[in-house]
Amino acid sequence: MLVEHDNFPALYADYLATGNRLLGMEVGIVSRIEGPSYTVLAVQPAEAGYAAGDVFELGETLCALVVGEDRLVAIESLGADRRTEHHPVYVDHRLAAYLAAPIRVFGAIYGTLNFTSSIGRAEPFCDEDRDLVELMAGSLGRVIERDIAEQERALAAQLIHENGELFENAFRHAPIGMALVGTDGRWLRVNAAVTQMLGYSEDELLEIDFQSVTHPEDLDADMELVRSVLAGEIDSYRMEKRYFHRHGHTVWGLLSVSLVRDEWGRPRNFVSQIQDITDQKRAQQELDRKNQELQRVNAQLEELAMVDPLTRVLNRRAFSQRLDAELSQCQRSGLPLSLLLVDVDHFKRFNDDFGHLEGDKALCRVAHELSSAARQNDIVARYGGEEFAVVLPNTDGAGCRVVAERMRTAIERIASAPRPLTASVGAATYVPRRNRGTEIDPAGLIRPADEALYAAKGSGRNVALHADDLA
Ligand code: GH3
Ligand code: MG
Ligand code: MG
Repeated sequence: MLVEHDNFPALYADYLATGNRLLGMEVGIVSRIEGPSYTVLAVQPAEAGYAAGDVFELGETLCALVVGEDRLVAIESLGADRRTEHHPVYVDHRLAAYLAAPIRVFGAIYGTLNFTSSIGRAEPFCDEDRDLVELMAGSLGRVIERDIAEQERALAAQLIHENGELFENAFRHAPIGMALVGTDGRWLRVNAAVTQMLGYSEDELLEIDFQSVTHPEDLDADMELVRSVLAGEIDSYRMEKRYFHRHGHTVWGLLSVSLVRDEWGRPRNFVSQIQDITDQKRAQQELDRKNQELQRVNAQLEELAMVDPLTRVLNRRAFSQRLDAELSQCQRSGLPLSLLLVDVDHFKRFNDDFGHLEGDKALCRVAHELSSAARQNDIVARYGGEEFAVVLPNTDGAGCRVVAERMRTAIERIASAPRPLTASVGAATYVPRRNRGTEIDPAGLIRPADEALYAAKGSGRNVALHADDLA
């Protein structure tokens, strides 16, 4: 066995010399057979005419018989055996006797152990001869098997070592934070990216657990996910969370965690990847803040577009929109809709007497009185100059007359103006049921209200008239 020999050549030489001597043969060979090729691995004696490394076609050698029959072949006289009587080994090389056994490795023929002699044998090979060759071939096969197994083991060990180094390097130099974390949360290993992100040295981190550097608002969610993984409910998790940097400020991490189990399936440790997303988060927060600001400004702009800057009631544009909407609504509901047009009397004169600024103030007072006299759902707007419009949803002619009168009196009672103000009011009402089947457009309501207003002016002003009351 190889234990007693330093190497295969020495082992083969020993076996072959012993075989030659005990069997009374001249040449012994150990061959390797791979497909159609026959390679001499060792030969004894050295001057036999072959050398280790010689390659032949398997078909040209007698060992093709061993492979073909898949067993020991023993021929005392090649010339007298029909398998070999025309074989070139006999015809050209004048060999006479041949005894060979297959060397099997892991169940397959690896090569042969063969002995030849130029002198034929008078007696057949005896059982001891055959047993000896098979015994030697068998033990060679086992030594070769063991050697191959050892080589494979060494290769595997080298691969594991190389993989370990690869992993170690990947872990150490990964630009993303990587950590091994115990099931209790203690850091077991951290790479440079983690220490950089959190501002602690590796030794400092290994003294603490992840909980102590986690923002309290993110801790419960993290711990719940840890529990789920340990309970086997999920294999891994990902979350965005905040850590405390050693200097006290927070850093945002995108954390990915998976659990490593031991060979019995028990939780061993976590593998965590932590990507520093502080910059992205800050940018996102800034963007959110700007969006909010934009929404606020947009809302302001929208309001500005709807509101009359002097009197703070709706402007004419908003009035048109609301009137359209109310008309559609009343057409759907069948409920009546009324409109008042309120025009300040002799306002030109008021301006002339007290100045434009005082006129502006008076318009604001009028708008205020109209809004105060209006109900929740009524819509007060500045229709133009010193003229206001009031839309009264769900209000019939009678209700409309009451509101018109209330508004007229409210203006009359304004005490803060340098001279009492009055206004004329024209009213109109649309009743969908009464006008069944006919669609109405805004003009259908504005025109009669305007006519009523004109009539009110004509009748001496400071009066409210309903279009339905005109003669
Ligand atoms: P009437 O009773 O017939 O309505 O007479 P009036 O003078 O009120 O009517 P007119 O249409 O002749 O004049 C309206 C005046 O309203 C003229 C204008 O100077 C004034 N006015 C319109 N808008 C404003 C405003 O925003 N501020 C001020 N101070 N005055 C305004
Ligand atoms: Mg006017
Ligand atoms: Mg006027």
